[in-house]
Amino acid sequence: MVAYFWFNFSYNNEIRILDDAKVQNVRVVDRFNNRQHIIGTIYLTDKHLIFVDPEGKRETWILHSLILSADKLPTTQQGCPLRVRTKHFFSIEFIIPKERDCVELHATLNQLKAESHEKLYCYLYQAPNYLEKIWDPFLLATEYMRMGVPNRDWKVEDSNSNFDMCDTYPPIIYVPMSTTKQMLIGSSKFRSRGRLPVLTYLHPNGASITRCSQPLSGFSARCLEDEQLLQSILKTNSHSSTMYIIDTRPRINAVANRAAGKGYENEDYYSNIQFKFCPIENIHVMRGSLQKVLDACEMKNPSMNQYLNALDSSSWLQHIKAVLDAAIFIARAIDIEKKNVLVHCSDGWDRTAQCCSLSSLLLCPYYRSIHGFRMLIEKEWLSFGHKFSDRCGHTRTSDNKEQSPVFLQFVEVVWQLTQIYPTAFEFNERFLISLHDHSHSCQYGNFVGNCEKDRLDLGVKERTYSYWNYILQNVNDFKNPLFRPQSTYASEVLLPTIHSQTLKFWMNMYHRFDGSILPKENIPNTLTHLIDHTAALNDHARLLEKRIRELRTILENVNEQTNHSTTSLPEQDGNLSETEPSQTANKNLPPLSLSSDVESGINSDYSPSDRTSVSPPLNLQHQLSGEINDIPTIERIAFELNSIALDWRSYQAPLHCTCSLPFDSAQRKYNCWRCGENFCIRCIEHGVRLPGLYSNSLAPVCKTCARSIKSSLSMFENSTPNKSNDQKQTEMKSSLSINDENKI
Ligand SMILES: [Zn+2]
Ligand SMILES: [Zn+2]
Repeated sequence: MVAYFWFNFSYNNEIRILDDAKVQNVRVVDRFNNRQHIIGTIYLTDKHLIFVDPEGKRETWILHSLILSADKLPTTQQGCPLRVRTKHFFSIEFIIPKERDCVELHATLNQLKAESHEKLYCYLYQAPNYLEKIWDPFLLATEYMRMGVPNRDWKVEDSNSNFDMCDTYPPIIYVPMSTTKQMLIGSSKFRSRGRLPVLTYLHPNGASITRCSQPLSGFSARCLEDEQLLQSILKTNSHSSTMYIIDTRPRINAVANRAAGKGYENEDYYSNIQFKFCPIENIHVMRGSLQKVLDACEMKNPSMNQYLNALDSSSWLQHIKAVLDAAIFIARAIDIEKKNVLVHCSDGWDRTAQCCSLSSLLLCPYYRSIHGFRMLIEKEWLSFGHKFSDRCGHTRTSDNKEQSPVFLQFVEVVWQLTQIYPTAFEFNERFLISLHDHSHSCQYGNFVGNCEKDRLDLGVKERTYSYWNYILQNVNDFKNPLFRPQSTYASEVLLPTIHSQTLKFWMNMYHRFDGSILPKENIPNTLTHLIDHTAALNDHARLLEKRIRELRTILENVNEQTNHSTTSLPEQDGNLSETEPSQTANKNLPPLSLSSDVESGINSDYSPSDRTSVSPPLNLQHQLSGEINDIPTIERIAFELNSIALDWRSYQAPLHCTCSLPFDSAQRKYNCWRCGENFCIRCIEHGVRLPGLYSNSLAPVCKTCARSIKSSLSMFENSTPNKSNDQKQTEMKSSLSINDENKI
């Protein structure tokens, strides 16, 4: 069961679509247990299809813009089945008792898909308050400057500022210093869709990746300007006298294109060129392959053989390997052979985008950070015009034959790399799944349109929210706890050797909503859970230490006063004198080491006898005198102690949030720092200051606990208005003494 994209939604702020707004007695069959049926109600709103199971207290929310297909299946004795599949691999079959209801629901669902770009979800989406319609500007120039461009070999060209030369390229492009306008115009006319060779990545050793589309060479056509442009690219790199042209298509496809006046470079016309095919199949083959994967995932109780054979015959991992192999070849050519590489496929916006972005990711550690990865996507996928609208089928009018999982394959190859190098990437699996989801959801404007110019025409930056802003605001949810920025893999070029056995099937992506077959524990998630829990306990421990220090100081003062009165007596027995009160206190109460092990998160063998010899550092003395001004009452201390959960519910359980939404592998489970239970993002408040924490930081707390904390806080504030510190200190002392009495 799935709940998804429910941020800030409730039934109340969505408009119901169906007349009576619901279809009752709908049956859903559990795919992994044929005998288990759930009976519930379907609600249809302007944004979601919602299935509510009142007995199991579960809700399934499906965003309309994520629906891939809604198919009416042949009527059975039980009713009329309607199968809904989403673009993020959720599949559900509703059995609706009355055929009329099923027909109506089916027709309505098909109508709800946006008929044009202007009707897409991003223009309706009301984000939570913490998100603003602010677009952190992505400046292509900044990213090139980071790579040291322009320089003596490369210059910036604004001849595409009105998208005249190539309407799917960015307004500014980077080309060799020695090129002329004539060369660029000539080359763009000789390349499919005007996509001439331009710089996309410059390695510190001077070798570069340039990208373009296929030449319109046919069987024998040639273009002098294009040949000159390639020679200029070759000359930018003094380390090598030759360069590669990588055609990422299978040879047969490239040859077939010649008949249509397209094709590939003739080595006889381009001197010092090494031409090579790195065969990756086309969008149609990839679409078919993914469908076979999904069919395998949807099989009902398959045998081991059936399941593995079905996955194998999809050839999906073979295609993933082909993309990765091409990227590794390019990275090796750049880093080891120090040669320039020009990459193209047919139009240079699918396989070329995959290979250029993945080879850059292997070559440059910066792209393995969250910020750098964003830059990589902005540059290779958004600026250079991957057709997100067509490939993801954003609108009702999209051509089915144009849809293809090209971006998904890129995301999956990145995931495969994170499995090979778990410490090299700053982001986690959840980030990759989220990225894929939102390339389809149209919740944010980033992945709408087919190129930069489309997004400009659609006014996405003025009228929609940015996905990157959402990531930035929730960045802790997307961090890989295993990331070690200084480790070798995180700071150097990655050149893995990929064997067939290296690649894994991505269960958390394709079986993500099949909670019952996924592993019960996920190591990175469990680690994040432990890190958070340790942080909460450390913070709480620091407060407890502070309270103990205060208590000790009070007791010292009490002792001091006692000593005063006793030393004033003429016949006092013993050696105590006025000059040694602190030593006396130390004998009674050993001082705690302030630079505690709690801060480092390491449990050392605590040995009280060792610690007694350690004097508090000077700054501590200062701190103590500051802290002592703020002594709380015993009630307040009890309140502090109760505001922190010492035990947290373990990460793997439960499968549902208390609000009835199911958890899936892409969703972060949050532990409430006060009660320790698991909650989904909509049940958690992030902005609560817990009295049991030493630091003033904001903690995640469930809504019930947040209410309770807030009302208790206001009660404390009202009951102790402007008490002097002396008063507070006296109260604490008296409270303590009362406590002692109680103990006795
Ligand atoms: Zn709670
Ligand atoms: Zn919840």
